[in-house]
Amino acid sequence: MLGSLGLVIPVRDDLRVLEGYHSPQVDVDVRLNTNESPLSPPDAFRDALAAELSRIEWHRYPDRAATELRRAIADWHGVDPSMVFAANGSNEVLQTILLTYAGAGRRVATFEPTYQMHAQIARVVGSEVVEGERNADFTLDPDELRRVVDEYDPHVTFLTSPNNPTGLVEPSERIGELLDVTNGLVVADEAYAQFADWSALELLDDDRPLVVTRTFSKTWSMAGVRLGYAIGPAWFVDELEKVVLPYHLDAVKQLAGRVALRFVDDMNERVRLIVDERERLSTTMRGMPIDVTPSGANFILFRPTSIGGRDLWQQLLDRSILVRDCSGWPRLADCLRVTVGTPDENDAFITALKEILT
Ligand SMILES: *Cc1c(COP(=O)(O)O)cnc(C)c1O
Repeated sequence: MLGSLGLVIPVRDDLRVLEGYHSPQVDVDVRLNTNESPLSPPDAFRDALAAELSRIEWHRYPDRAATELRRAIADWHGVDPSMVFAANGSNEVLQTILLTYAGAGRRVATFEPTYQMHAQIARVVGSEVVEGERNADFTLDPDELRRVVDEYDPHVTFLTSPNNPTGLVEPSERIGELLDVTNGLVVADEAYAQFADWSALELLDDDRPLVVTRTFSKTWSMAGVRLGYAIGPAWFVDELEKVVLPYHLDAVKQLAGRVALRFVDDMNERVRLIVDERERLSTTMRGMPIDVTPSGANFILFRPTSIGGRDLWQQLLDRSILVRDCSGWPRLADCLRVTVGTPDENDAFITALKEILT
């Protein structure tokens, strides 16, 4: 124990207020708290990956430009590979964007409540975070959008669509309005876009400061791989490549991403199943004393109206069902977020809800 309490080296002054990102991992039967896919990847993916792994040149650095992976991602989206930047999860994509276009002395705008990591990473890279407010129903008022841009002239503005933790899809007009007024970069975080009915990818243009970020974590049954990417103008990708660490994307990850993209049909089928289950869950929950936020993602934000949110969370946990407790977060009093699981997991969740609320 010697020394463990004595020496404290102070961190940067501006980091002292940070609390870090917490998502408790509890041992339960039904885990519906972190928005992963409830299904593991197809067996054929595992077999194909295992076969290709044996051919990796382990003594060599990986392809620094991730050429084949970027080409595969670009082909899938119908864009040029020069428009694709890949990294270790979309969180590293976001960090690289902020290191490049924000950093110390610059401003980053978010519209709360939204994905906490946007503000967290922005602060870690030394930026000032300016927070706009959403309406009580979590939609975004165009006047508020304009107010934040006029007042703070942010260098980077985030819109998350579908938003996390609300599940709401941002209408394309909102992104258009933001592009009309801002002098900075607009980042559409689309970690869940495949569950929604439109994507900001259709707005991309070489003359527009718009980029879209995506991840393999939520749709591709590949949260364990840590792979995400941005699609944007080639000039944007070029700048990010200068900032990111050399060889940051290891050979195994590059391979896993490429092999996964051979299974687009399986992935689409999983997405359809989850969307169907999401609608079944939403409809059932609307028949209970619960406010349900409309979701275009693989999770649902909800607020019980007959008991407290924290109380409901605990009673679900007592039945070995874990959902995300957002009830103590700013602007989300009494709210919980449930990730859509397998049909059996969703049945268990509904059964427990009925027991507790009726
Ligand atoms: C989960 C999530 C991410 C992070 O995804 P990774 O690729 O696993 O780092 C990014 N944005 C949003 C909105 C998310 O919910």
